[in-house]
Amino acid sequence: MWDHRVIILCSLRGRLLEELHDSHWEVVKMKQVARSYFWWPKLDEEIEKITKSCRLCLEHADNPSRAVSHSWTWPLAPNQRLHADFCGPIKGYMYLVICDSYSKWIDVKEMVDITADSTIHAFREYFALW
Ligand SMILES: [Zn+2]
Repeated sequence: MWDHRVIILCSLRGRLLEELHDSHWEVVKMKQVARSYFWWPKLDEEIEKITKSCRLCLEHADNPSRAVSHSWTWPLAPNQRLHADFCGPIKGYMYLVICDSYSKWIDVKEMVDITADSTIHAFREYFALW
């Protein structure tokens, strides 16, 4: 044992690597799993080597799924679109952070709680002010 990990004999390392790569995990995932259970010198290098030499992994390596980007339409006036989220708790308080997309004005409201009623009240204050 090395700390909480099992040190694997040289003769069993290849078989263990093959088993670990059975699901064709990428390098980071394989290292993560390996590090939690076993160890041998140059384990990381051998994991990198097995993933770089796997035909199936190589075929899929350059084909990440494309994310469709979405752009917001640009607002034409203040308060046409607001972004809001809660921040906290900070020293027992939550904060409602409201950002106006047009002006980038940020308004922060200290909240005792984040119930729907309190949030509606905070937004009413915001709309009354702006
Ligand atoms: Zn593979």
